[in-house]
Amino acid sequence: MKKHNFNPGPSILPQYTIDGTAAAIKDFMGTGLSILEVSHRGKEFDAVMNDAVALVKEVLGVPEGYAVLFVGGGASTQFFHVPYNLLEKKAAYLKTGEWATKAAKEAELFGEVVIVASSEDKNFSYVPKGYVIPTDVDYFHITTNNTIYGTEIMTDLDSPVTLVADMSSDIFSRPVDVAKYGLIYAGAQKNLGPAGVTLVIVREDLLGKMTRKMPKMVDYRTHIKSNSMFNTPPVVNVYACMLTLQWLKNNGGLVAMDKVNAAKSELLYAEIDRNKCFVGTAAKEDRSRMNVCFVMAEGYKELEAEFISFASSKGLVGIKGHRSVGGFRASLYNALPLESVQALVDAMREFEASH
Ligand SMILES: *Cc1c(COP(=O)(O)O)cnc(C)c1O
Repeated sequence: MKKHNFNPGPSILPQYTIDGTAAAIKDFMGTGLSILEVSHRGKEFDAVMNDAVALVKEVLGVPEGYAVLFVGGGASTQFFHVPYNLLEKKAAYLKTGEWATKAAKEAELFGEVVIVASSEDKNFSYVPKGYVIPTDVDYFHITTNNTIYGTEIMTDLDSPVTLVADMSSDIFSRPVDVAKYGLIYAGAQKNLGPAGVTLVIVREDLLGKMTRKMPKMVDYRTHIKSNSMFNTPPVVNVYACMLTLQWLKNNGGLVAMDKVNAAKSELLYAEIDRNKCFVGTAAKEDRSRMNVCFVMAEGYKELEAEFISFASSKGLVGIKGHRSVGGFRASLYNALPLESVQALVDAMREFEASH
């Protein structure tokens, strides 16, 4: 039985990506070689990289003046690449969760870090509002979707300084006004491809301004100059990302994704709000469409493990919540079909009826 995959990351990918990658592992574009054993300097892989970059630009609507990179390491690598390249004196961070906190912590190695606002007082269950972004900083860093706590910033903020965003878990889930950002990064393993490669979109005029020396691998300009092939890139991962981008384009792009993601998350939140056994953990106005966090309601707390195994018997996997929130987290990334959300909702109803 094909599972309903609610894993938070690595997570569900389109069947198109999985089938296409499997085929390329057997025979890469008719070369008679597996993609696991070809040179990244060959014309076939060069075309893959160019297509992947072109598709990011097309699907996301990246304006002129921005470079699109596929670099090794996860989003956590970007936590220090960003300040290396952009933090001369001072940077501002919005502390909305564990990843945001880790990003800010790394930046402290490079300069002064101002925490503009934090939602730590309520276990990161909301997104702070009404804060003022300082103007004497090199950039303002946000995490658009808080994967662990299930909150999301759904609007492209107006920032008086360069806006940097970790979009690891909601990139390509809705149209984004890229022009409002100086730099966007996203680990691939939530909405794009396999773990180990990270997408970076950076406005080129921001680079080359640091007085510090930095390793070549850290300098974004190195990767821009070499078309993300300064060293050996994660070849298979980039190929899989390219397939997901094709799938996005062939399925109506981000306008279509936006609609489906709204429908999926509304269906599940409506059930959480209706069902007497469950309660949501994130503030309603900040609820994430990608990671839906909920717990057993008062009076049903002891049934948590029972619901996990009940869900598992229905082929619903990956719904255990992160240890810092507990309960459940259903990740509804682009590749997860509406039917899987319906299957979870049906299981929640059946569970309620039998208790
Ligand atoms: C998963 C995640 C990360 C960490 O990604 P790695 O690729 O494991 O380093 C960072 N930020 C956010 C928002 C995430 O969801």
